[in-house]
Amino acid sequence: MTQIVEGVHRLGTELVNFYLVEDDGRCTLVDAALPGYHGGLVDSLQALGKGVDAIDAVVLTHAHVDHVGLAERVRTEAGATVHVHADDAEMARTGKIPKRDASFLPYLVRPAALKLVAHMVGNGGARPTKVTEVSTFADGDVLDVPGRPRVIATPGHTDGHCVLLFEQHGVLFIGDALCSRNPLTGREGPQVMPSAFNASTRRALDSLDRLTGVAASHLLFGHGDPWTDGAAAAVERARELGPS
Ligand SMILES: [Zn+2]
Repeated sequence: MTQIVEGVHRLGTELVNFYLVEDDGRCTLVDAALPGYHGGLVDSLQALGKGVDAIDAVVLTHAHVDHVGLAERVRTEAGATVHVHADDAEMARTGKIPKRDASFLPYLVRPAALKLVAHMVGNGGARPTKVTEVSTFADGDVLDVPGRPRVIATPGHTDGHCVLLFEQHGVLFIGDALCSRNPLTGREGPQVMPSAFNASTRRALDSLDRLTGVAASHLLFGHGDPWTDGAAAAVERARELGPS
């Protein structure tokens, strides 16, 4: 666990990030990694003098398995509410992934891709992860959960993908609208996710316009290290790098 700014902690591994936001002693989990990350979550909370019951809400940027993994368990253990955009609610409830832009197979010659697959399988990511009950949100909503994030819809990676701005903390959770390290090719720098993981890469690129005007000290990704040079520069870099 590393502290990004006061009250914002990065959890997870070098391959998959998720985050804990503290506000007045209560917590919001932003994304929920993989099922195998439960021990890590408990240890991190303990280091902060807290238990899982300090989590009031799990807010999902989208409903892919490596972002939903712990959601149902935290929901039941902590009595937390799980929040997701309405267009990803079905995926969160069923664990079924709609069709994607490109085949995954060509990536499998890449060491980074093999490492990711092995990691996902080893951490319970090969089975669908379902959330029994979700609360849905829409673009522009300010969620009544610790940290009061504002929702900015950025469809493309999934139909219901959103980024989450925690204005008081000054951080923008990017989810998989961008990554700063490509989980399939290992390429560094802010970029859209590889096409094999996107519902529509074209739409994901179009959605980047929604990020350019957002003021945040830190951009925090589902995959890769934080970015501190502002959203506009991250988007510019992603456009230069292009799809993969
Ligand atoms: Zn994803």
